[in-house]
Amino acid sequence: EEFNASVRSGESLSGSGSTDSGGCQRGDSLDLSNKGDSRWPRQNSLSMKEWDIPYDELRLFEVIGTGRFGTVYRGSWHGAVAVKVLHVHSLSDDCVPLDTFKHEVATFRKTRHENLVLFMGACMKPPRLAIVTSLCKGMTLYTHIHLRKDKFTANKSVIVAQQISQGMGYLHARGIIHKDLKTKNIFLENGKVVITDFGLFSVTKLCFGNNLRGDSLGIPAGWLCYLAPELCRALTPHASLILPFSKATDVYAFGTVWYELLCGEYPFKSQPPEAVIWQVGKGVKQSLASMQASRDIKDILMLCWSYRSHERPDFPALLSTLQKLPRKRLARSPSHPVHLSRSADS
Ligand code: ADP
Ligand code: MG
Repeated sequence: EEFNASVRSGESLSGSGSTDSGGCQRGDSLDLSNKGDSRWPRQNSLSMKEWDIPYDELRLFEVIGTGRFGTVYRGSWHGAVAVKVLHVHSLSDDCVPLDTFKHEVATFRKTRHENLVLFMGACMKPPRLAIVTSLCKGMTLYTHIHLRKDKFTANKSVIVAQQISQGMGYLHARGIIHKDLKTKNIFLENGKVVITDFGLFSVTKLCFGNNLRGDSLGIPAGWLCYLAPELCRALTPHASLILPFSKATDVYAFGTVWYELLCGEYPFKSQPPEAVIWQVGKGVKQSLASMQASRDIKDILMLCWSYRSHERPDFPALLSTLQKLPRKRLARSPSHPVHLSRSADS
C-alpha cells in the first residue's frame, strides 16, 4: 500500500513491463495506485473507509501542545506517534473543508524524505479530523533559538539551512507548498532537521475560517515575519482563505528562518503588526547593518526576501549557494563537540 503511494506519481513504471496498458504483470499495483489517485478529489462521502487510520485504533495520551487550529497529542498507533486533532466546529454546513482535507492527506501520503516528518495517516470522526505523524524527538528550532537562546554558529546554521533546503526542495518538486514554514515547524533531532506541518495551512484555515477573531486580522505573534510582501498586501480581514501562497512565499519564509538562526531573534522584533505589514508590503526589509555575518550570508537573506517573488531563488539554488559558502575552520573545543557533522562533510 505504502509502496503504491510512492509509485503513484512516478512515471517510471508505466513505460516498463509488457506492452499493452493494464495488462502488465505489475498491473495490480499500478491499478491500485491509479484508483487511489483519482478517488480522492471525486469522492464526497464521509465514510470511514477512506481514512487510513480508524479513530478507535488511536490512543491519545497527554497534550503536547495547542496550536492555532488544533491540539497535538502524544499518541500510540503501532508505536509512538503525534496526533494533531483539528477541532472542527461544524461539519454540517458544507464539505469543502473535508474535501480539502482529503486532498491534502492524499498529497502527504506521497511524501517521504529524511528531513520531513513521517506522515502516517489521517482519521476522521466527526467532529474531529486528525493527522497522525511520527513523534518528533528533540526540540523545535523555535525552542532552541527563542526560548533556550542557543547560539547557532554560522557553520551550524549553514548545515541546518542546507537540510531545510533539501526537505523543502523535495516538497516543491512534488508540487507541495508548505505555507507555514517557521521555526516552530522545524525540529532538530540529534542534528537532523525534521520539517512538520507542510501543506496543512489551508485545511486548518478552512476548518477555522469562521473562527478567526472577528474583524481583527487574527494574526498570531511570530507569524507575520514569515509572510512575503505579496501575502502582507493580501492580508485583509476575512481574506485569509485566499492568500496567494506559492513556492516563492515559502522561500521568503525560509529567509526569515535563516535570519533567526543567524541573529537569534525575529526580524522586525517588537514592532506592532500594522507596522510590519505596512513596511513589508512596501518592500522594506529588516536592516542587516548590525548583523555580524559575511557578505554572502547576508546576500542569501536579501535574495530570499526579494520584494518581487520571481527574484527569489528556488530551493535547489539555495542549496547549492549554501554548499558553496566558505566554511570557517572553527576551533572546536572538546567539551562542546559539534553534533552536526554528519551532513557537514559533504
Ligand atoms: P505550532 O506549530 O504553531 O507550534 P502546532 O499545533 O503545530 O502549533 O503544534 C503544537 C505543539 O505540538 C508544538 O509544541 C509542537 O512543537 C508540537 N508538535 C507538533 N507536531 C509534533 C510532532 N510530530 N512531534 C512532536 N511534537 C509535535
Ligand atoms: Mg506546527
